[in-house]
Amino acid sequence: MTLCHLLARQARLAPERVAILHGDAPWASHGEWAARSAGLAQRLRAEGLVPGDRVLLFMRNHPRYLELLWGAWWAGLVVVPVNAKLHPAEVAWIVADAGARWGFVTRDVAPAPIDGLERQVDAESAEADALLAPAPDWRAVPIAERQPDDLAWLFYTSGTTGRPKGVMITQRNLMTMGLAYFSDVDAIDGARDLMCYAAPMSHGCGLYAVPHLMGGARHVVPASGGVDPDELFALGRALGPLSTFAAPTIVKRLVDHAQARGLGHADCAAAFKTIVYGGAPMYVADMQRALAVMGPRFVQIYGQGETPMTATALARHHIADTTHPRHVERLGSVGVAQTPVQLRVVGEDGRELPAGEAGEVLVRGDSVMAGYWRNPEASAAALRDGWLWTGDVGCLDEDGFLTLKDRSKDLVISGGSNVYPREVEEVLLTAPGVAEVACVGAPDAEWGEVVVAFVVTQPGHALDPAALDAHCLARIARFKRPKRYVLVQALPKNHYGKVLKTELRARLRD
Ligand code: AMP
Repeated sequence: MTLCHLLARQARLAPERVAILHGDAPWASHGEWAARSAGLAQRLRAEGLVPGDRVLLFMRNHPRYLELLWGAWWAGLVVVPVNAKLHPAEVAWIVADAGARWGFVTRDVAPAPIDGLERQVDAESAEADALLAPAPDWRAVPIAERQPDDLAWLFYTSGTTGRPKGVMITQRNLMTMGLAYFSDVDAIDGARDLMCYAAPMSHGCGLYAVPHLMGGARHVVPASGGVDPDELFALGRALGPLSTFAAPTIVKRLVDHAQARGLGHADCAAAFKTIVYGGAPMYVADMQRALAVMGPRFVQIYGQGETPMTATALARHHIADTTHPRHVERLGSVGVAQTPVQLRVVGEDGRELPAGEAGEVLVRGDSVMAGYWRNPEASAAALRDGWLWTGDVGCLDEDGFLTLKDRSKDLVISGGSNVYPREVEEVLLTAPGVAEVACVGAPDAEWGEVVVAFVVTQPGHALDPAALDAHCLARIARFKRPKRYVLVQALPKNHYGKVLKTELRARLRD
């Protein structure tokens, strides 16, 4: 079984059923999807592309994304989906590093030719229509022979530090991720469910096409190709409740929208079945508000490109059970190891730490990448004795719930004591008037490093360092509290909504 067989299987089972929608308009049935992807595979082969060759996808979210992914896999190719907001120079760097031969783009994202590609196809052009013209009999088009350890997706890490690395994601990795959705995230009802691609399809949201194709659900790309809460609520109401994946910043926008419109739990349930969140910290105060406003429709996952979407999950019932004595701690955690993986927290010497102690998070299992593309040194550092060293710092509790502290490089050491910025941020977010906050370490002659908090205030609130200081003193150890508060209009974030702490540290240096 390969990723491509998932499409053939659905096309046999339910050829006429609508599979892909663009907004509320049907785009393709399962049969049409298979015929177009098979047609593309035939033509790519005829053009001389051979299994293992890389194909770039540099597009805004578009229904064609799905046809291209599966067309490439039908031909045994490796896809390189790239974030639509990257600079052309960054994309050219990825093309060169990946050795991508062809690229599919949308004109809004890539108006000019990208250096290094043999052929660049506008996914909305007549040229693309011809390449994707349905094969008269898709069953007759052979699916390329692929082994479980063959590469399927080359995922370039967000690169908040240094050059991005190409994570080698195999067929097995994605099949495992897909099955873990069913065991650890949510049940999929093929007759009713809709996976909605509002967050970038080049990242986690697009990866979730795999479980939804396994389950025979429909796939919806909003007409805007992005996140517009009005549009998403309307789509859900029109088509049926949506499932989606969103970074915490997007969840916040949906919650703000529901609150501003006075929508109740029933309105939210009509529009959304499940909102899977992850990719960056979700603060307890934010999740509590999300639950109160939108009701129990949230599941959290923690993963990284190196173990896509599959390290831990915080189940819907764990999030919703407000009566549990450790509910707040659990909300602040990322849940328990997903079914296909083992999890460990270790000290610098690699030895496993007891519950409650913070160390680096290690993951082992079939979702873990094969290594970094053409980068044996980085691969050897990240993969040791079969374990993935995630670079995240966290601690496990007695029940197996993992709480992430920070990336190891975000740790602040002040006067010899470790401060995890996340902990300070959680506290500051409960202070009146604080909308967003990010803490980083700044060099300090006396303490080595001190905590500095960058704060975005809620409308109508001024920054009040003395009040924030008192708020921290009442809740956390004295040495952890920020020595400085900096008021900012917005926090710098990357295209996936992760706060760029490197940029905040650079601001302090300057
Ligand atoms: P990426 O490889 O771009 O998906 O980034 C993965 C990183 O995002 C992880 O190593 C974590 O640092 C962070 N991350 C992912 N999921 C979560 C989560 N649920 N909570 C906090 N941080 C997360």
